[in-house]
Amino acid sequence: MAQRRNTYSLWIWTLAACNGVATTVLHLALSGAALGGAVGVFQWLATFAHFSALTAALALLPWSALRFGAARTALVAAIAVFGTLILVVIVNAKVYALYKFHLNAMVWFLITQGAAVQTLGFSPQMWLSASYVVMATFGGQTALAILLSRRGTATARSLARYYAWIAALGVTTQCIHAYADAIAQRPLLMAVRTIPWAQPLTAKGFFGRLGYAATRSEAPDLAVQSAGTFDYPLAPLQCAGGAVANGMPNIVMIVVDSLRYDMLTPDVMPKTAAWAESTTRFEHHYSTGNGTRFGIFGLMYGLPGAYWHAALAERRGPVLIDRLDELGYQFFVFGSAPLDSPEFHRTAFTRIWNRVAPNGPGDVVERDRTITRELIEAMRTRDAAKPFFAFYFLDAPHAYAHPRDMTSPFEPTLESVNYLSLSNATDPVPFLNLYKTSVLFDDGLIGEVLAALDADPRLADDTIVVVTGDHGQAFNETHDNTWGHNSNFSDYEARVPFAVRWPGRAPSVVERPTSHMDWAPTLLTNALGCMTPVDRYSTGSPLFESTTSDRVLPIEQWTQRAIRTRDRVYVFLSWGGYEVRDANYALVGEPVDGAAIGVGFEQLSRFMRR
Ligand SMILES: [Zn+2]
Repeated sequence: MAQRRNTYSLWIWTLAACNGVATTVLHLALSGAALGGAVGVFQWLATFAHFSALTAALALLPWSALRFGAARTALVAAIAVFGTLILVVIVNAKVYALYKFHLNAMVWFLITQGAAVQTLGFSPQMWLSASYVVMATFGGQTALAILLSRRGTATARSLARYYAWIAALGVTTQCIHAYADAIAQRPLLMAVRTIPWAQPLTAKGFFGRLGYAATRSEAPDLAVQSAGTFDYPLAPLQCAGGAVANGMPNIVMIVVDSLRYDMLTPDVMPKTAAWAESTTRFEHHYSTGNGTRFGIFGLMYGLPGAYWHAALAERRGPVLIDRLDELGYQFFVFGSAPLDSPEFHRTAFTRIWNRVAPNGPGDVVERDRTITRELIEAMRTRDAAKPFFAFYFLDAPHAYAHPRDMTSPFEPTLESVNYLSLSNATDPVPFLNLYKTSVLFDDGLIGEVLAALDADPRLADDTIVVVTGDHGQAFNETHDNTWGHNSNFSDYEARVPFAVRWPGRAPSVVERPTSHMDWAPTLLTNALGCMTPVDRYSTGSPLFESTTSDRVLPIEQWTQRAIRTRDRVYVFLSWGGYEVRDANYALVGEPVDGAAIGVGFEQLSRFMRR
């Protein structure tokens, strides 16, 4: 009996194999993503292995039904699962052809809520032809499934051989990707980005130990452009040639990892808060992500964090660094944590990576102290004939670190963090106090840098200084067991301090919403002589120009994203659903504002090549 049942289940695996071929062909034919040459062959094989694995995984559902003896259920399940997959692949390919990104929760919302007609440009005729496609797909699946389940299929031996080949192909293409990633082979990385829902393998450490690594000096060569999907900037920057009218100020970016919006106070950051009295303070400032890569990306590029993936695959640095380099700026880039993880060496700093010193040894506290010394020394020994750009990235609050001998005014406090013991029942106060102590430690270091700037009269009057964080840090304020960052889009994780001292500007407080996306266009238009309309290279607006209070700000996380408006957070979840939350991050039972999502979608798609 068992023998018989096994024999009968063969039709499911044959059907899965057919659908693996069909989805590969449909995706590459409809998405416009198919490449030529050797990279094209790799793309075909990797896409085929990917879809074959996906259909085999989906086949487990009807196969389970058959194991329990439910033959009819198995047949219906197989038709439903593979028919739906084909449709999703077709929709994804169409979305990719138009926008160069794969189907995600936000696009799914636009399609299913009818907002697609305006936003995605879907015509009524498209919906009509879509209904034919749906009927043809399920009709075809039904015919094939019935044919295969009634008549003979491939033998067990030939199917086993087929899937062994698929597995070998999958492993091979994944290894090729990991190797390409380690040595930064742009064409192969870009080819893998065309595969929907791919989970490419990376192993930089492993290949690095074998001696395969992208070197620092190759960065400028790799930054050379070739056409990809990241269409940035939309127009070459038009800027004043040579010297800029206001004399090219120095620029110092002081960024503290995980510095949330309510920490810039006299008790937690006494030195910085005193200095901030002389600055413009943006009180409702949002990061472009709730994690490091997406926050720093927005700050340096003036774009939503979502473009990180395209910029990384194509090694496209920000126009801000291009412009600074063209103007002959000296670069003092110091990260406490390694700046190649996340891959800022292939994004924000790719053009100047061979001029960035490797980060120092020791623990977080020692490294924060080291980069403080290095920055002050670099400013002291700079070539005074040229301006400089400094990026100084402290790390202590990210790791809740402070010197062992430091006495903390914040009591009671944890000694260390046991992440496994955190729950909704945990008292957040001792943990928050530990975090505040680490912020206080970095405040002392920032104070040294600010004092060094003020001690040199040539620097004090001619240097733009910003203090901010890459994202915030949560201590379960939203009562959903979220600690740290990368977990939700509440103000505790997404909102940061933003204090700017700009020569010639009187201190002020700005209450309207602003974003990390606004920083690069502020520098380019107000300090670096660029006249190109800002929307050609950024989704932000210069900070000192009054913008509307109804701003729509995309905030990025690995697998999900949010659209932040003044009093709502629309969260698009990794599994495809969405939530509407208020300013306090409480769920509210009201529909999504389709117009706001449309504005956010435009920002997320403007710089993808059509
Ligand atoms: Zn961070």
